[in-house]
Amino acid sequence: MREFDYVIIGGGCAGLSLAYELEIHEKLKDKSLAIIEPRDEYKRDKTWSFWKVTSHNFDDCVKKNWKNFSINIPNKTNYLECKNFPYQSIDSGLFYEKINNKLKENKNIFFFKDISEINLKNCFIFNSVPSIKEDHRNLWQHFCGVEIETQDNFFDDEIFNLMDFDCDQRESVHFFYTLPYSKNTALVETTWLSKVNDNSKKDYDKQIKDYIENHLNLKNYKIIYREEGAIPLFYPINKNEKNKINIGTAGGMTRLSTGYTFLNIQEHSKYIRENIENISNVKKYKIDPKYQFLDEIFLRVLERHPEKMPDIFFKMFKASPKTVIKFLSNKSNFFEELSIIFRMPKLTFIKALFY
Ligand SMILES: Cc1cc2nc3c(=O)[nH]c(=O)nc-3n(C[C@H](O)[C@H](O)[C@H](O)COP(=O)(O)OP(=O)(O)OC[C@H]3O[C@@H](n4cnc5c(N)ncnc54)[C@H](O)[C@@H]3O)c2cc1C
Repeated sequence: MREFDYVIIGGGCAGLSLAYELEIHEKLKDKSLAIIEPRDEYKRDKTWSFWKVTSHNFDDCVKKNWKNFSINIPNKTNYLECKNFPYQSIDSGLFYEKINNKLKENKNIFFFKDISEINLKNCFIFNSVPSIKEDHRNLWQHFCGVEIETQDNFFDDEIFNLMDFDCDQRESVHFFYTLPYSKNTALVETTWLSKVNDNSKKDYDKQIKDYIENHLNLKNYKIIYREEGAIPLFYPINKNEKNKINIGTAGGMTRLSTGYTFLNIQEHSKYIRENIENISNVKKYKIDPKYQFLDEIFLRVLERHPEKMPDIFFKMFKASPKTVIKFLSNKSNFFEELSIIFRMPKLTFIKALFY
């Protein structure tokens, strides 16, 4: 069995982002890389969206940029601007195609379906397959989205809706998310923050149909794409091992209060590439612990008081949009964090501190 210098377990977002980052910076010229990926073919399966607070390698895979967004609770809508940090949506189909075309040019990169096909002795491993202990208390962000096409122009594609809480909450936290890609196409997503083993929230198709037809008042449309997923709002097991680094969701790159992961994955890839020559000894890359602490309290409040969350999210966005975006994207300073904390219901959060 062949040995490799580097092995990436899982050729999804984090695995491929890292391979691409290493390849374009010529770190794989004299090194061999094996990518372990069981899927038979790469096709569009996810839409990765985020506020662009840092540069990344995938501007040419962006389906759409927005400079305006809204958030609403019953009877109230807040319209916000994000022209400093546009919101971007990446089409995973374009992302996979771009990376795989680039990786094919290097004869030192090999794909395998199963890890048993290679020898793991003497290699450095980047693992993106999370190790998750089943626990009924775990919170997840689980969702389903459909891209719809209408015959006539229907959407205002200058503005997207980040969170629409004007919907059935079922003693949990639920919102719809609408990304209008053009005047006649949009991704409409139903999103829950709850325990994923609670199947009572998983009648996604019915929820989406009802929202489109009775809330958006759109009757004439067809579904052209569907995606479904669940993001853990807790950290998977991440042991310190001399010859292994976890990346992606497995490596704790998810912001627990929001589920945003894509840009953190890109920053982690850059960090690994900058330190690849000394990778066994380098300090582990982490989302700043202050965000981990604040998110933990936020999730405690969410678990105890799901009914308060629509108002809490709405109030959070009463701060300047630039501040909130920086906070949610791990780029805020102390004063920006204070301006968000002051908007939160103080007693509820103080109680959550001591639980
Ligand atoms: C549908 C969906 C939409 C999302 N949208 C956003 C978003 O808008 N913005 C954002 O910031 N984040 C988003 N996320 C969260 C996060 O960015 C994604 O989950 C991202 O794909 C995480 O990258 P990853 O490499 O950790 O996992 P993945 O991309 O899932 O990659 C893991 C890879 O491992 C492979 N694999 C599985 N088992 C094995 C095994 N035993 N051995 C080897 N390989 C294996 C899988 O086939 C897969 O290719 C979304 C997640 C989902 C599921």
